[in-house]
Amino acid sequence: MAKIINGKKIATEFCDSVRDRVSELKMRGISPRIALINASNDPASEIYVSKKEALAASVGIESDIYKFTKGTKEADIIELIEKLNNDEKVHAILLQSPLMEGLRFRELINHISPNKDVDGLTSVNQGRLFSGEPGLVPCTPLGVLHLIHSVHEKIAGLHAVVIGRSSIVGRPMTLLLLNANCTVTALHSYSRNLEEVCKTADILVSATGHPKIVGKNFIKPGATVIDVGITRVIEADGTRKIIGDVDFDEVSEIAGAITPVPNGVGPMTVAYLMYNTLKLACCY
Ligand code: NDP
Repeated sequence: MAKIINGKKIATEFCDSVRDRVSELKMRGISPRIALINASNDPASEIYVSKKEALAASVGIESDIYKFTKGTKEADIIELIEKLNNDEKVHAILLQSPLMEGLRFRELINHISPNKDVDGLTSVNQGRLFSGEPGLVPCTPLGVLHLIHSVHEKIAGLHAVVIGRSSIVGRPMTLLLLNANCTVTALHSYSRNLEEVCKTADILVSATGHPKIVGKNFIKPGATVIDVGITRVIEADGTRKIIGDVDFDEVSEIAGAITPVPNGVGPMTVAYLMYNTLKLACCY
């Protein structure tokens, strides 16, 4: 039976260290502040933004939510971003995705100053990650790497397989693991023989959003399996549930370590949002 990687506990401990460093920074007269821009009409985004606001408050980070409603134009958001870029009190800017229809994420994200780009999604920060230079890295892959290190002291030379290649999860995850000297295979919807390739992984990270796509036949005995996927479902009795990419029950019989959904990667993503805000407040 696999060791269950308790993302909630690890994230809580990590946030304690962020809180301590925020206090130190405040004593030096710097009060870290994040702007949360919500131009989404996805109800889940509302929940995510409130969770980020609550966690920020709990670690001593100031936050402001900017909510946009239907009919918003890209120019309105760009105007706000430029105002925030020039506001010395604001250290970090987050643009919550998905955006409502008619708004282009890549067009808007690149208006955020790379020095306030808390989720490392501007082309400048993605380029820095690509070339192995220091910069801001997306929060979810950073959280995943932290979870991997909770079970592996050293990962250099291990074979890591990442399923998914989005610019927010899969692609930066692949690069982070490559920069950490893993041998990395990136899989996506055109990849063939998914099962066979995954079965060679010492570390398997799945980020597709397809519930239970990763079954026991994908797993090398003893492998570390990190499930990033989140799919919301409503059960026959009306209860709401979230399901990961990994069939937890059968995979946990074979894997060496595994993250659950919920309470695996999710809490680490928000914890690293706090960490990145702190980093921007003290180092940029
Ligand atoms: P995207 O939809 O942007 O990307 C999904 C990726 O999975 C794509 O690269 C796609 O390939 C690949 N894919 C889809 N189907 C298959 C398949 N059958 N076989 C192989 N690859 C496949 O999603 P995100 O990257 O934004 O998010 C992925 C999942 O992670 C979602 O469930 C999301 O909710 C969750 N998530 C969780 C977070 C957390 O904190 N736990 C944070 C962020 C996301 P292709 O490029 O070819 O289309």
